[in-house]
Amino acid sequence: MTPAAQHPASPSNFREFHAMFPDDDHCIEYLAAWRWPDGFVCPRCSGRTADRLKCRPLWECRGCGRQTSATAGTVMHRTRLPLSRWLYAIWQIAVRKVSISAKQLQQEAGIGSYGSAWALLHKVRLVLEEHDDAWLLHGDAVEVDETKIFGRGRPGGRIGRGLSVGSAWIVAAVERYERSRGSKTWQASGSARVEVIHDTTTTTLCGFVERSAERGSLVVTDGWPAYNDIVTRGYVHEATVLRKNHQLAKTVQPKVHLFFSNLKALLVGTFHGIDVAYMGRYLNEFLYRFNRRHLGARLFGYLVRRVIQGRWTSIPGLHPESAG
Ligand SMILES: [Zn+2]
Repeated sequence: MTPAAQHPASPSNFREFHAMFPDDDHCIEYLAAWRWPDGFVCPRCSGRTADRLKCRPLWECRGCGRQTSATAGTVMHRTRLPLSRWLYAIWQIAVRKVSISAKQLQQEAGIGSYGSAWALLHKVRLVLEEHDDAWLLHGDAVEVDETKIFGRGRPGGRIGRGLSVGSAWIVAAVERYERSRGSKTWQASGSARVEVIHDTTTTTLCGFVERSAERGSLVVTDGWPAYNDIVTRGYVHEATVLRKNHQLAKTVQPKVHLFFSNLKALLVGTFHGIDVAYMGRYLNEFLYRFNRRHLGARLFGYLVRRVIQGRWTSIPGLHPESAG
């Protein structure tokens, strides 16, 4: 019994959302189906049979009697908010072109305080992190570049190379694929990785490349000398010194620059400047969605599964290149 078997992959409008999740009981059943897609598993004795308690959202193992909730150990554990609010937030993250802000969530889902809406969204973002055992990038090339993001914070006080309080360096790597059909050729983006960094030294940038891309990949950079060491670490390096020539930059590294401009549109357009202390969490959400952008309506189920299973699980077809 999977949710997909009982429901559409994703509600396509508010009426369908409310029909799927009219009350907490329906939410619990939906979450339980994603938590235990092959049926209940007791966390104590691994027993496979349980009875759902009548008055509380708990399953009691027939083997050892342990009572378990579908949300135990997840970011929803002991939440005071109705579960439909959580599912609404996850649904909106899945279906919106960019994202949903805490203010929007508070208003649309009728959450009492801005703080509760903010915390809910940040908890979801925390579990969207790509884990180190995820696939490594390869592609026909991997474009790597850094950019500075400006957020909220006190102006002034410098905290690093060209970095003031309220700004953060991030580094990204984006797969590039060469495509052709007949005489037509074009370049497509594959998957990406992104991290907050505190400096742009060889140790930091080459370390990022090693965590992100398969050895042997062709790595395309803007010729910043800190990348030169990737050759000794087993990569093929194509460095083009750009000297602030933005037109040339778009030709040499089109995909990573597109990635940055979409990311900045999200941060500025939806969140109106963010506290850079939480930059990593916003990057989690952006990257999770970017790497699964081909899933369409199935993204909602993927998000719910990630939140209710609370940790990475290897999912066949997760890589966008193989997910079609
Ligand atoms: Zn048990």
